Amino acid sequence: MNKLKLSTYIAAEDLQKKVNEMGATLTKKFKDKKAIAVCVLKGSFVFYSDLIRSIDTDITCEFFGVSSYQGNTQSSGEVKVTLDLSVPIEGEHVILIEDIVDTGITMNYLKASLLARKPKSLTTVALLEKPEALKVPCEIDLVGFKIPNDFVVGYGLDYQGYYRNLPYIAQVQNFQ
Ligand code: 5GP
Repeated sequence: MNKLKLSTYIAAEDLQKKVNEMGATLTKKFKDKKAIAVCVLKGSFVFYSDLIRSIDTDITCEFFGVSSYQGNTQSSGEVKVTLDLSVPIEGEHVILIEDIVDTGITMNYLKASLLARKPKSLTTVALLEKPEALKVPCEIDLVGFKIPNDFVVGYGLDYQGYYRNLPYIAQVQNFQ
């Protein structure tokens, strides 16, 4: 693989600080309630694993696999389900945890798919949002960072499958 030139976009300590704040907000919201925390695979797994450890209330973990970029830097606009939830969510509080909202197509697809299963409530969370890239209206209940329309990797986000293991978020400097 050609090595990409990366520059730090959001440092590991800033991510950790933000994730702890988001966890505290969710702890307050779901105090004395139980909820199902849904991780959107693959990109959210690092953020998700940090976030759930900063939520201090009763949660169970579920995984929903979707693919819209198929390893590239442009959304295909088509959402493919690669793994469905393993339990029904009817009557449950659900927290949907996404890595990044770009065009908004994936988040809207996920919301529609989960709401059709009649949860008691649905709270949407995204670590990153690119407001300039939105192609469809998309409201998110809790957003970590709003960023410009740049392609980023790390902290779970990939380029052609790589860079998910970077502990920080980086911008790619040398795309042709
Ligand atoms: P959307 O449907 O909002 O266009 O795209 C959402 C999905 O595209 C995200 O869950 C993520 O997997 C991928 N994505 C969007 N922007 C980026 C980005 O800047 N970097 C990476 N690695 N993936 C992105």
